[in-house]
Formats: sequence, C-alpha cells, structure tokens
Amino acid sequence: MNIFDVHIKNGEVIDGTGAPKFKSDIVINKGKIIGIFPAENGDVRDPSENHFLSNFRAKHTINAENKIISPGFIDVHTHDDDNVFLDPSMSSKISQGVTTCVAGNCGISLAPFSYKGEVPAPIALLGKSEVFRFPRVSNYKEEFNNKPSSVNLALLTGHSMLRLEAMNGEFARPATTKEISKMIVKLKLALADGSIGLSTGLAYPAANDAPTSEIIELAKILPEFDGIFTTHMRNEAVDVIKSVNETINISSTAKVRTVISHHKCAGRENWGKSKKTLELIGEAKKNNFLDLDCYPYTASSTMLLKSFVKRADKVLVTWSDNYPDISGQDLNDLAQQFGISIDETIDKLYPAGAIYFQMDDQDLNRILQFPGSMIGSDGIPGDRHPHPRLWGTFPRVLGKYSREMQLFPLEEAVYKMTGKSASVFGLEKRGIIDVGNYADLVIFNPETVIDKASYQSPKLHADGIENVLVNGEVVWQEDSATQNRPGMFLEGKKFH
Ligand SMILES: [Zn+2]
Repeated sequence: MNIFDVHIKNGEVIDGTGAPKFKSDIVINKGKIIGIFPAENGDVRDPSENHFLSNFRAKHTINAENKIISPGFIDVHTHDDDNVFLDPSMSSKISQGVTTCVAGNCGISLAPFSYKGEVPAPIALLGKSEVFRFPRVSNYKEEFNNKPSSVNLALLTGHSMLRLEAMNGEFARPATTKEISKMIVKLKLALADGSIGLSTGLAYPAANDAPTSEIIELAKILPEFDGIFTTHMRNEAVDVIKSVNETINISSTAKVRTVISHHKCAGRENWGKSKKTLELIGEAKKNNFLDLDCYPYTASSTMLLKSFVKRADKVLVTWSDNYPDISGQDLNDLAQQFGISIDETIDKLYPAGAIYFQMDDQDLNRILQFPGSMIGSDGIPGDRHPHPRLWGTFPRVLGKYSREMQLFPLEEAVYKMTGKSASVFGLEKRGIIDVGNYADLVIFNPETVIDKASYQSPKLHADGIENVLVNGEVVWQEDSATQNRPGMFLEGKKFH
C-alpha cells in the first residue's frame, strides 16, 4: 500500500482557472498535488491516470465536506518584506488563506539597498534605517531560506531604492544618464539574484521627479529576465487618467508585462473616473500585457502626508513615532486636542501613517469586477492600528463582494486571487489546483467566509477559513497558526 502525506476528502474543488467547481478529493505528497480524483463515482478527472491512488493510506486526513478547496490565495500587493522575518507565522495573511505574498511594491523593497543616509517617504513604511541590511537580493533570499516564514514570498525590486542609491540621496530631480546606467546594473543583478521585477512609487517624494523616460529605460531591462513591471502611478486622483496613459506608454514602449497597483480614483472630484481608466486599460490590453490589482475598501493607507490629507473626507492616524499612543484616532480630533492646525498636527506627528477615506463604492465595484483585476491587500504590517485590509482583504472579496453582493461568481473571485495572479506574476506551478503543482491550498466555508477586521478593530482574523496548506504543510487550522514554516522564496526566471 502506498503511504502519502495528506488526503483532503469530500470537498468541492475550485481549481483557480475560473472553471466551475467540482466535487473531488485531493492527495498530496512531498509538497505537491499528486492526485485529484472523484470522491464518488463521478467522471470528473480520469482516476485511471492516477491508478496508484486506488490503494493508499494518508498520514493526515482532512475532511472538507461542504467546504471549498481552492488554491492558496496569492497576495500580489504586499509590504511584507520584513514582516516575514518579524512574524514568521504571518498570521495576518494565512488567516485569510493567503499562501504567497509578493513584496517590494510601490517602489520600496527591503533589498537591494546599501544607501546609509536619511530616507524620504514612503521608505519608512518598511521600517527604520537599521532594517535595511540586504545589499543584494541574494542576501535577502539567503536569510529567507535560513528562516522561512509560513508563506511563500516573491520580491520586486523598488525603483526608489535603486534611485536613492544611484543618486546618492539627491532624489528630487531626474536621474542623469550615468545614474540610470548605475540603476540598470543594480536592477540586472537583482533580477539575476531572483527578484521577479521592478516596482515604482511615482506618487511619492522619493520618485516623483523621475520622468517617464527614466522609468522606460529601466523597464526595458525586464523582458529579457521575464520580469514584471508594477506601478503605484504618479497620480491616483485629479490626474489618474493621465497616469494611466503614462503607464500604457511605459508598458508599450518597454514591451513589458505591467500591473497597475491598487487602482483607485481618490478624492470626491475624481469619483467616476474609473469608467474612463478601465476603458483605456481594456483598450490597451489588446496589444499589451496590462493588468491591475485592487483591494476591497474605499479607504487607502500610507504615510501621513499633507498632499494626501487634503483630498480625503476623513483621516485616521495609524502610527506616529512621536506619539505612539494616538494610533487609531481621527486627525481632526487630534488637531482640536492639540489646539493647532491640521498641517501643524501633521508636522508634530511626522513620521506617521494614516488611513484616508477618499474612494467611491461604485468605482471600487467597477474595478473589482474588471476582467483584468487581481486582488492584493496593500496591507502595512508594521502599523500599530493598521488598515483592516491587512487582515480582511481576501475573505471580504469572497464573502461580501461575491456571496452577498454577487459582483461575480465564487469561481471568478478565486481566479482573481489565484490562477490569474500566478500567471501574471510568473509564479510557476502555483495558483491552480493541478497534478504536479505545489500544494498551496485553502479550505474554506463558502457560506460563512467573511472578514472581521474593521477600522475600529483592525486586527481580527476572518471567519470561515478552515485549513491552509503551504507546500503541502498545514499552516493554519482551528483558528490558529501552526508551527510549520514551509514558505519558499519564489524566484523570477533566471537569464543565464
Ligand atoms: Zn502603493
């Protein structure tokens, strides 16, 4: 008799391709899926191909009756670069069913970075200066492999890191040709070391003065490494349409696989602009690899910056170095308490983080429904009072937007967080339940799955996520993290 590692019985499989669910068992051995076969006498997939499954015993059996078995969710937009080391259980993510995180988004990555001077916003989102300890992506990879987390991790290279280093801290101007050459050398090295692509954060001080041409020069390097280009665009408010056009220009000129990060239309006067942005993106998709990610909330979160405060209806402070105890409070109330203006309050709190209420439900629904959209949390793990997306994103899409609001069927919701994401980000043998793929799986209750984290209580884990497996090992069950740390560092394709 064959003895295999795990047998998941009697579940309904949503395989991550968007195809309708089907009833099936799944057998896992040595971290991979080795069998998908009918639980009853259905002819879902031919069991004769898997004849060795006719006589086996499993070391561990999971009953998934009345539950969905789907590929583990891929959080394509994270800032978990250091969090995988600080909290290797990665409870905020595995409690949602996330099994892979893409870190290094918005132009900021923990590696590669050797610059020792003062860093501009938003680099502090990753931590204080001492956290930057990886001159190369290979150093980061080595540390991850020595101390793996419960989730897999893929790393983008932040444009702002390359820029700050090449320009020796003089970031408030376009880079010279020589400086761009330096960035290219560093980027190529990062890609060869295993980074999956380049991210930008053009809306932020660190990169705002980089002209389109600077980005194109760097993005052109990516195709030969099969790298991806992700962009927190220059403007997500009054100039959001202009920024989408800039992104399309970069994507088509550099001929690079492109993802618009956390797509949104911020500020009341820009509500409704998603009709136009999605039309432009849809048109450009005909000739370019262009996609987008989004999170299911109408508030955003990043550092506390005056330019961002101006267009928001309401602002909550998530952290402040100078006033750690005020986390979770309204910026207006704080200004009143201090008896000073909003701008003076921001100066007093800075460096600090904030949640900005500034988006429209209609835009959000439209963006979530868009065929090219993927789900990414954009959660910021270091915040004392984080945006609830850190703990709630994926169950919220499944429970609120698919089951309750019926924006899309459950199969499509899962596709937006698994198969689609793996194919766009080039994560091989992930994101789809198939024989030979890695056993990154989540078992959830489709009737009860829902987010619990709120703006008031942002660290509550979701309901309905029953079991989560990463590379065949259980990392979440009975509402808690296990001690297993099976995460792998997922590399981009190597050039040589
Ligand atoms: Zn961003």
